[in-house]
Amino acid sequence: MSDTPEPVSGVKADLETLVSLAKRRGFVFPSAEIYGGFAAAYDYGPLGTQMRRNIRDLWWRAMVQERDDIVGLEAAIITNPDVWVASGHVSNFTDPMVECRECQGRFRADHLEDDICPNCGRKGTMGEPRQFNMMLSTIVGPVADDSGRAFMRPETAQGMFVNFDNVQTTTRKRLPFGIAQQGKSFRNEITVKQFIFRTREFEQMEMEYFCHPDQSLDLHTYWKKERLRWHLSLGIRREHLRLRDHDQEELSHYSQATSDVEFHYPWGWGELEGIAHRGDFDLTEHAKHSGKKLTYLDPETNQHIVPHVVEPALGLDREMLTILFDAYDEDEIGGEKRVVLHLSPEVAPVTVAVLPLSKKETLEPTAREVSSMLRKQYRVQYDDTQSIGRRYRRQDEIGTPLCVTVDFDSLEDNAVTIRERDTTEQIRVPISGLMDAVRDRLEALRPVVPSLGEIEV
Ligand code: ATP
Repeated sequence: MSDTPEPVSGVKADLETLVSLAKRRGFVFPSAEIYGGFAAAYDYGPLGTQMRRNIRDLWWRAMVQERDDIVGLEAAIITNPDVWVASGHVSNFTDPMVECRECQGRFRADHLEDDICPNCGRKGTMGEPRQFNMMLSTIVGPVADDSGRAFMRPETAQGMFVNFDNVQTTTRKRLPFGIAQQGKSFRNEITVKQFIFRTREFEQMEMEYFCHPDQSLDLHTYWKKERLRWHLSLGIRREHLRLRDHDQEELSHYSQATSDVEFHYPWGWGELEGIAHRGDFDLTEHAKHSGKKLTYLDPETNQHIVPHVVEPALGLDREMLTILFDAYDEDEIGGEKRVVLHLSPEVAPVTVAVLPLSKKETLEPTAREVSSMLRKQYRVQYDDTQSIGRRYRRQDEIGTPLCVTVDFDSLEDNAVTIRERDTTEQIRVPISGLMDAVRDRLEALRPVVPSLGEIEV
């Protein structure tokens, strides 16, 4: 993309470099490419699919599995349209759109710099902004008229609010407690030019943390720190991340306070995750529109209260793009340029590559044996094509932390060589001790995460 500015900060890849790597190695393809693609839609290839799954699982582990106070939910994507009236999305989920009078290009008014049209480069040709609702709609049922009009959810959050009472009564959780959900959301975005940073179909990972109103501001601060720690635990470097509080005029219609976790993208600081204090807006509105009581009986005071909500909301696709930017590096090995992704072992699509030194049949049984042993615990790729040097480069480029090489000596000494991606250091280990050696090496590559107290907000 020619209008991509020079990389800033320590990010070493521009957008074009990353898009090309993602396609070349099978992380991300343009959607339905054989038909010429489809605007802002992408298909994830084998490595991208695995990497997304890893990130999704790490989020679930941190937000649900390791905690006693958060439970999971999977709500319908297409639900009762009244939900979106109550939530304010029908009337308020809009972006200001402007149209260029010269080239008819349409843009988000708040994304334009100096009133210049990004398509034709002309200044002062923009019409008046008009509000454009970003929800994608569809028709449900056999009759194609407005009576069957329904919406594709623009966020997963409302599923948690409309199920607040169901979840609370079935789990009997006491405040503060959270409901977490992962799944697709849809927005008819006006400007979509930064690859998977902003798409019309994307996956969200959101958690609604219900609490007593008196605790809500402290818990907002707590979640800011906790979420920043999570991004660090996936290996994103601290210097590429910051927390930024929204100004009053930036706040969404429901929010009392919002902070973003921002990353320093090649085009500047941008939102990675939003952490919103939603007050009691959603529960109050749904109670009003549905006529159902959505309160919590405080067992200490015996009074009904409407809990306040703190919501960390993250896009899975954006997290993946961010990790790829952060991990991308170019260095030199033996006088040759090397592209390497410094992915943390838990995020990397392949944890260990098994590489027989040559394609000779004599090596295959041992190499296959090593590979199936490792596969029980790790994501393994078996590769016996091309020279060993090229295979190492390929694994470096997809971020595989370790390669295990089986050579002719292995047949005699029952040992293999482990090669580390970051240092390219090689060590020889007996096959009987391989599982332990791999575990130790991977452990040493895990990011160091600061404690809550060490994070300033
Ligand atoms: P933006 O201001 O960038 O449009 P937003 O503030 O509307 O985003 P939220 O509603 O807070 O975004 O959504 C929570 C998270 O979901 C975002 O931080 C982002 O990671 C992700 N997200 C939102 N919209 C998109 C999109 N169109 N494509 C990919 N991810 C998205």
